[in-house]
Amino acid sequence: MPGRLLSRVALITGAGSGIGLECSLLFAQEGAHVALVDVNEQAVQKTHKLIGERYPNVKSIPIKADVSKEESVKDMVEQTVTTFGRLDIMFNNAGIMHPEDDNALNTEERIWDLTMNINVKGVWWGCKYAILAMRKNPTDEGKGLHTGGSIINTASFVALMGAATPQLAYTASKGAVLAMTRELAMVHAREGIRVNAICPGPLKTPLLMDFLNTDEKKQRRLVHLPMGRFGEAIEVARGALFLASDDSSYVTGTDFLVDGGLSSCYVTPL
Ligand code: NAD
Repeated sequence: MPGRLLSRVALITGAGSGIGLECSLLFAQEGAHVALVDVNEQAVQKTHKLIGERYPNVKSIPIKADVSKEESVKDMVEQTVTTFGRLDIMFNNAGIMHPEDDNALNTEERIWDLTMNINVKGVWWGCKYAILAMRKNPTDEGKGLHTGGSIINTASFVALMGAATPQLAYTASKGAVLAMTRELAMVHAREGIRVNAICPGPLKTPLLMDFLNTDEKKQRRLVHLPMGRFGEAIEVARGALFLASDDSSYVTGTDFLVDGGLSSCYVTPL
């Protein structure tokens, strides 16, 4: 069913890798024009090039921005609206999991602050400027376009479950994303702006695989996964597509789990 995002304008952060990369390609495949944002300029240029090769009818713009800086976020949303005339979908997906993030005793304040600045403040700025832009969307019923829009914030299964392999700052940051998402969903519901969180399980992306760099570390997690495997970025992108499209028109304020059943699991199958 291609064309689910026809004529929509989407901004995706963290578009240079993992979930953001797969989501950029999927949204483009579904007909959206896409603003591709990443702090890594080379990576985002690569995504832009791929979209140009695969989906020549889709317009995309690569933007280098750091989501933890308010001016940077304001500017990336302005660039998107100036180029495409509106913003319908905001995917606040960029995030970090720092290798020095540990338990309450060992985590340094600078790691806590860095993680919070990107994972929490970055989502706040993204929501703030997306809401301001979405409020101005002109109505065009003929094309199926409307005021309002869909905001998706990437949280994580660790916002809902404790892990004995701690990353305290990361876990706390994702809990904050969930709480913030619910409140924003309530505040802006009557403006036609839906705000949802997506909670991926552990995935085969650089973010996790760079960290789980030994077989032992991987096995420590794999035993707890009901499906016996890590997830793929494209499987989360498909969830984000649902939340971005009108298929989820009555869904807001939710914690949308794409975790292979992990958060429902007591004992895994043999
Ligand atoms: P990834 O490392 O593959 O990609 C993240 C992208 O974000 C990178 O391209 C990076 O350059 C960019 N980025 C980092 N800091 C940025 C900043 N300040 N401004 C702009 N861009 C920045 O990671 P991923 O696995 O695709 O993760 C995407 C999101 O999913 C993150 O929020 C992550 O916490 C979350 N998540 C991942 C997993 C997993 O297992 N991989 C599980 C749950 C949640």
